[in-house]
Amino acid sequence: MIVVEELTKRYGRTVAVDGLSFAVRPGHVTGFLGPNGAGKSTTMRMILGLDRPTAGRALVGGRPYASLRRPLREIGALLEGRSAHPGRRAADHLRYLARSNDIPAARVGEVLALVGLQDAARRRASGFSLGMAQRLGIAAALLGDPPVLLLDEPVNGLDPEGVHWLRALLRGYAAQGRTVLVSSHLMAETALVADRLVVISRGRLVADATVAEFVAGA
Ligand code: ADP
Ligand code: ADP
Repeated sequence: MIVVEELTKRYGRTVAVDGLSFAVRPGHVTGFLGPNGAGKSTTMRMILGLDRPTAGRALVGGRPYASLRRPLREIGALLEGRSAHPGRRAADHLRYLARSNDIPAARVGEVLALVGLQDAARRRASGFSLGMAQRLGIAAALLGDPPVLLLDEPVNGLDPEGVHWLRALLRGYAAQGRTVLVSSHLMAETALVADRLVVISRGRLVADATVAEFVAGA
């Protein structure tokens, strides 16, 4: 479960996130929707403790991210701009993340297979296509077998087959009772994978409903 309470982030005179409150429940894929600049990434960065809120707070499983001892086992995240060091081999990148989170090394091979990168384990991230880099980022998010997944625009760079694969994966995770939050600026695409939607605009909540309720009310 992710809980966001009265979260606000100001950058100088720009209010990126403005008193935002919502909860992301387990057992669903929740789409986090809003136009570019709405504040989705900023919200996700605050949930992950990468940005400090101006006011309010974000909790993962009832606790602030900063207090999680082995964060990758609590919340797996894919974020734009956070990637493997280009010179590092895919498996080494994951081994490094596993080590610092008390995750068994054997899990590295498992997640590489899960994302279809088993044959690229020894290749360096610098030679990866956008889609492969995205898959490696998803592998890192899945590494700790976390009960909560948070993915910022995960479809970026994936080919149609990859999009299909990701959809099935996220639905499977939600069906296991996990909490899945996926941001996008595309409503139609998100409605294919999500069963709940949190919609924001200019940093404020616009809707928090099931996809069916949203369509009925729109
Ligand atoms: P989204 O992810 O929905 O596209 P963002 O969270 O990236 O939206 O951005 C929300 C607003 O905050 C935008 O106006 C953006 O320009 C601004 N913003 C985001 N990060 C910064 C930053 N580091 N410094 C200044 N302004 C920022
Ligand atoms: P650096 O390693 O130079 O600090 P990175 O962007 O590679 O920069 O990673 C920043 C931090 O985030 C590192 O501590 C790394 O362990 C962690 N990290 C990198 N990728 C992930 C990921 N997918 N999930 C969680 N943590 C990650």
